[in-house]
Amino acid sequence: MVAILNDNTLIINELSELLSGGQKLAYVRSFGCQLNVSDGEKIKGVLKKIGYSFTDNENEADLIILNTCAVRESAEDRVFGIIGSMKKLKELKPSLIIGVAGCMTAQSHIAEKIKRSYPQVELVVGTSAINALPKLLLEVLHGRKFAADIAEYDDFSAEVEQVRESPFKASVPIMFGCNNFCTYCIVPHVRGRERSRRPEDIISEVEGLVRSGYKEIMLLGQNVNSYGNDLDDTISFPQLLRSLNDIEGDFIIRFMSSHPKDASRELIDTIFACDKVAKHLHLPVQSGSSDVLRRMNRRYTAEKYLETVDYIYSIDPDFSLTTDLIVGFPDETNEDFQATLDIIKRVRYDNIYSFIYSKRSGTKAAEMPDPVTDEEKGLRMRKLLEVQREISTEHYKRFIGRTMRVLADDVSKKKQGFLTGKSNEFIIVEFEGDPSLIGQFVDVEITDAMNWAVTGRIKKGNA
Ligand code: SF4
Repeated sequence: MVAILNDNTLIINELSELLSGGQKLAYVRSFGCQLNVSDGEKIKGVLKKIGYSFTDNENEADLIILNTCAVRESAEDRVFGIIGSMKKLKELKPSLIIGVAGCMTAQSHIAEKIKRSYPQVELVVGTSAINALPKLLLEVLHGRKFAADIAEYDDFSAEVEQVRESPFKASVPIMFGCNNFCTYCIVPHVRGRERSRRPEDIISEVEGLVRSGYKEIMLLGQNVNSYGNDLDDTISFPQLLRSLNDIEGDFIIRFMSSHPKDASRELIDTIFACDKVAKHLHLPVQSGSSDVLRRMNRRYTAEKYLETVDYIYSIDPDFSLTTDLIVGFPDETNEDFQATLDIIKRVRYDNIYSFIYSKRSGTKAAEMPDPVTDEEKGLRMRKLLEVQREISTEHYKRFIGRTMRVLADDVSKKKQGFLTGKSNEFIIVEFEGDPSLIGQFVDVEITDAMNWAVTGRIKKGNA
């Protein structure tokens, strides 16, 4: 781990002078998870300070940054395809600077491959080196052919001001990295060990966001439940939630992800005790088979997981749970798969995010024998989705007749004159309404349920 990056003020001043005279446009494209999207907003924050404006059209950009994801090899191949296609853009406009950021760059062989095979890329910046971007840009503008910084910095660029995509929903990373080493996952290898941001920095960021009118704060971390374990002050994630809940204002707090092995009773009690914390928990089970969970190195059994679920339902039997599932993990038997079907029937999730296992080189699972055919994995996936569809359709009916508080998000793509939003319970709600309500909380009386959303009408006197 390298110490903190130096103050950038002088470099930014020099860059601003170099780039003055006409508007400079940057195109920043983020792939993958919400943490990466949040990093993309930080990259934009750094570029804005230098004087860049932003475009969604790569053809008119003076600077392109691809903020990459490494979770699946197919995602990496796709990025290499995009980088390859950008050679043309560079030929047409030699002054164009192309850079690569994000999780892919944390693998030194990838940075090497980019340097060796893609001369159109002049800049590579690692996930914790976003603050080094001005220095690298300056080097390129001074004629260096390839400038890279993929070191792991202590300050991991957490305090960079973000250019946020939404004026009412904000992601706030509270920690970076992961210590868990699930056998299928590359994240600890590319994002490093857990580092928590200081609580006072998080609280002051959220206070600022609420003052600026943000209505939804999404706290992000690979495993938020181990927040604070690496800090000198003793602060746990539930304590942080309580401090954020005390901030004055009308807003909702969400968080992800929550590792089931660390989802404590204190966390669950805190969710119920804090009025601003959403009544929803994303609890990634990954498999219903304790044997598969052991081979995944998840460090909980299906029984232990169900104890947590039972505790939640003993407080509120209608509580909203969602999960992640991997179908076809190496050597998953029919019995293992059946255990997964059993657990989703038992828990009755409101939604599942399921993936067919795909080998990720550099992980332990990639070395495991995998006799299950792709055809069989596909069949299992279809079965899983069919079972979940039935559960969701039935389960969503519990909301009919209730009033849900919804943050109106967008106009509905499915029904003209309708808006769409997420309820406190993280359920998609569609309702008739004027677009001027987007970004506001509305009370919606639920009249119908589908397998992916509920519909309703705005409560009289609400808008
Ligand atoms: S908890 Fe497991 S799946 Fe999640 S980021 Fe860490 S290693 Fe990956």
